[in-house]
Amino acid sequence: MDMCVPGLGSSVACARVRITDKRVINGLADVNQLVPIAYKWAWDKYLAACANHWMPQEVNMNRDIALWREPTELSEDERLIVKRNLGFFVTADSLAANNIVLGTYRHITAPECRQYLLRQAFEEAIHTHAYQYIAESLGLDEGEIFNAYREIPSIRDKDEFLLEFIETLTDPMFRTGTDANDRSLLRSLIVFACLMEGLFFYVGFVQILALGRRNRMVGAAEQYQYILRDESMHCNFGIDLINQIKLENPHLWTDELRAELRQLFERAVQLEYRYAEDTMPRGVLGLNAPAFKEYLRFIANRRAQQVGLDVLYPGASNPFPWMSEMLDLKKERNFFEARVTEYQTGGSLRWD
Ligand code: FE
Repeated sequence: MDMCVPGLGSSVACARVRITDKRVINGLADVNQLVPIAYKWAWDKYLAACANHWMPQEVNMNRDIALWREPTELSEDERLIVKRNLGFFVTADSLAANNIVLGTYRHITAPECRQYLLRQAFEEAIHTHAYQYIAESLGLDEGEIFNAYREIPSIRDKDEFLLEFIETLTDPMFRTGTDANDRSLLRSLIVFACLMEGLFFYVGFVQILALGRRNRMVGAAEQYQYILRDESMHCNFGIDLINQIKLENPHLWTDELRAELRQLFERAVQLEYRYAEDTMPRGVLGLNAPAFKEYLRFIANRRAQQVGLDVLYPGASNPFPWMSEMLDLKKERNFFEARVTEYQTGGSLRWD
């Protein structure tokens, strides 16, 4: 006999959940019931994300600290890159976490997707922790770093661009269920996955990983490598989520929405390019702002295609092919082998 559970907010609370009842948005099936799994891609990403678990304090920062303290070892341009990077990211991942927890999560009605979002939210916290940990290790002025998103125009402009879309989802009065609101959700999800996590993070990732490739700031670079791997999965999950919503609600994908998205993509490329110019007033580490113009166009094309939009910048190519190698973190690295034991024996739990 099925039990009726009052207060589940579902018209089918008395019936067993069937796979065919599940929807990514506006679903009526019980959101507390993970199984039967309808969206295996979401569950698989949850498992993969857990398998990639890492913590910032496991990365040794001693070489970075020694390098940072040595006045002649790093150029002013290299120091600027590190400070601007932390200034952007240290609040960006808090924005991302709040967007998930206070916004996206409650509008998504597939428990498999919610399971991934819970994991993702924790990863955003780990990333904020990582940036804070780097800033603290290097003894940076925390007031300067944590206020950069108010005080540095190229950072503030990126965050201001995002805020409108985050606020749509976090508005307590916002509900899906009308075409206009479902389209707003879709628009915000695309901005978040393709433009925030999929584009606004990439100048910063390239810069710090370029330092690491030159054997500088290797601890910070190692952390950024783990973050890049997490973020690329966030972006891919977001794209799968968007495409599933489109599949289940094809009427939302109008010419008007596509034209509007195209403009948003172009605006985001401009803002990220402005950030590249601001953080690299001169060539540094074999990088320069104009190379990023090509790179950002290349990434924007890829993101557009991933959600079913036309290519925006025909012919754009990738000037940093080595970035894809940075995603190839193997679990058998010594770092991970050492770490598993530490989890089991370390920690602050006391049973006496
Ligand atoms: Fe993220």
